[in-house]
Amino acid sequence: MTGISLYGVVADVFRERNNAGVVFLLKFEDVTGSINAKLHFSQSWSLGRVSVGHTVYISGLACSKNKQNHFELSWFEMEAGASFINLSCLPALLNSSCLHRLSCLSDLSSRSNSMHVCRVWLDQVDHCHVTTRFSHAPCGHFVKEMPNGAVECSFCRCNCDGEVVTRAFYLKLTLADENTKIFAWCTGQTATELLQISPDEFYELSEDEQVMYPSSLENERFIVALVNCKRQAAHGSCDSQTPEADAVSWEITRALKYD
Ligand SMILES: [Zn+2]
Repeated sequence: MTGISLYGVVADVFRERNNAGVVFLLKFEDVTGSINAKLHFSQSWSLGRVSVGHTVYISGLACSKNKQNHFELSWFEMEAGASFINLSCLPALLNSSCLHRLSCLSDLSSRSNSMHVCRVWLDQVDHCHVTTRFSHAPCGHFVKEMPNGAVECSFCRCNCDGEVVTRAFYLKLTLADENTKIFAWCTGQTATELLQISPDEFYELSEDEQVMYPSSLENERFIVALVNCKRQAAHGSCDSQTPEADAVSWEITRALKYD
């Protein structure tokens, strides 16, 4: 069967180690259950940042039986009709009121929605945690230096020599509304929007200025999209692609300033 579309939440996504091609396994969940899809790329991951908890829409999936007689979904980047949209990271998500419904931070525990859009302000900014790291531009995940000195993308598991690597924020901070406060993390354009400075500009500040910088943001108001980034089950590998999120349950996938 071909031409299948799915809409649901990413429960896990990682590169298959024992595959000669560039294949990622995406575990997908909706209210009816979960299913695995193999995403095949001709050269490298090309879908931007996708992580646990993001809501995605995929079309052009094919269903077949594998050697173990289990149903398996596969998706080929170059196939006609293949598309992949990350709704949690859609640029227009927060400006278009038809694309979201506002909720309160206290609704986050209800789990009835996979994504929440809330009006918040930045709180306790003196306790926020801001650093910059390098991330792999095609996937937006952080790179790490290997014991042999090579730089590898923690998500694509590729050597980043000759790849586009950019400085990105790793930001953890407290968001508040009238009733509740939560601790959340983010990176990429979302962190730049919240901090209102580019990672390169921030990096150029003196150490003192970097420490002082967040205090200028106390009580700044934003509309944010939040997803639960807690992985539900381990996939057998002890490395997580977002180890920085481990202690934090919420990722801010989009942010938009408002007055
Ligand atoms: Zn990557």
